[in-house]
Amino acid sequence: MDFAASTVVVLGSINMDLVTTTARRPAPGETVLGSGFATVPGGKGANQAIAAARSGAQVRFLGAVGDDAFGTTLRSTLAEAGVDTALLRTVDGPSGVATIVVDGTGENSIIVVAGANGRVTDLTEDELAAIAAADILLCQLEIPLDTVAAATRHARASGTIVAINPSPVQPLSDALWADIDLAIVNSLESARYSAELNRVRHVVRTLGRDGAAYRSSDGSEFTVAGGRVGVVDTTGAGDAFTGALVATWATGPHAAVTWANAAGALATTRLGASSSIPDRARIERALAAD
Ligand code: ADP
Repeated sequence: MDFAASTVVVLGSINMDLVTTTARRPAPGETVLGSGFATVPGGKGANQAIAAARSGAQVRFLGAVGDDAFGTTLRSTLAEAGVDTALLRTVDGPSGVATIVVDGTGENSIIVVAGANGRVTDLTEDELAAIAAADILLCQLEIPLDTVAAATRHARASGTIVAINPSPVQPLSDALWADIDLAIVNSLESARYSAELNRVRHVVRTLGRDGAAYRSSDGSEFTVAGGRVGVVDTTGAGDAFTGALVATWATGPHAAVTWANAAGALATTRLGASSSIPDRARIERALAAD
């Protein structure tokens, strides 16, 4: 499969996930002793950018980290994955963080603070030029929506393909929907955006263990069955799928959805989000074994 020429710009969020494990969550005012702690780079934008790069695309990330230690680590995490961070901004104040508490029953509580992600309120000339020069722009909804809309408008006007993973679900303007060439949605998003998705040219629905389904406004559709894998942790499978899909989109919907479906399945076989994203060699081996 030859898609090395695809250039992808991801405009989105980048967070540090602070994961604390504890037998039992504290009541208000109470202190308990936890059993573990880890810092894990995350954010849908960063995860999807890493997934696209591991699939072999040339990827540029647009977004912001804070001027704290997390910002430094997040920037190098992207760079080590082969993502171009030349346009990643460093802004005053904290990086985006997600504070996650996982209790002994596996139940979690999460507080997300947007931090630097909330500061991406406009696009610079260099960022607009990067969008115009790319083959494909990929956005999610974890940064200010007006910025997403400005990026999709500019991409459409420049002939750059616009892909969106509209998550977390929130209302989007008709103008933004009109810019979208490709939407990647899970079951929940598919149900919540059902009317709007009818107007999108290419829609890919992820179906968890059942794989993924494609339909186009010209009437073509197909389903790819889920990969048979030993599931360890499904966190990040959707991000692995989306990045892999966008990286290979130029090969055509069927080849790209098949590729992304293998990437999504492999991502469930390891713990974590960004750490579980497979590279091109692993995806090729999994497809060859089918
Ligand atoms: P999300 O995590 O965003 O809700 P899904 O659960 O639909 O998204 O998973 C995204 C993709 O990851 C699926 O389309 C599939 O390719 C892969 N995947 C997820 N769960 C499994 C599983 N249990 N077995 C095989 N593949 C899976």
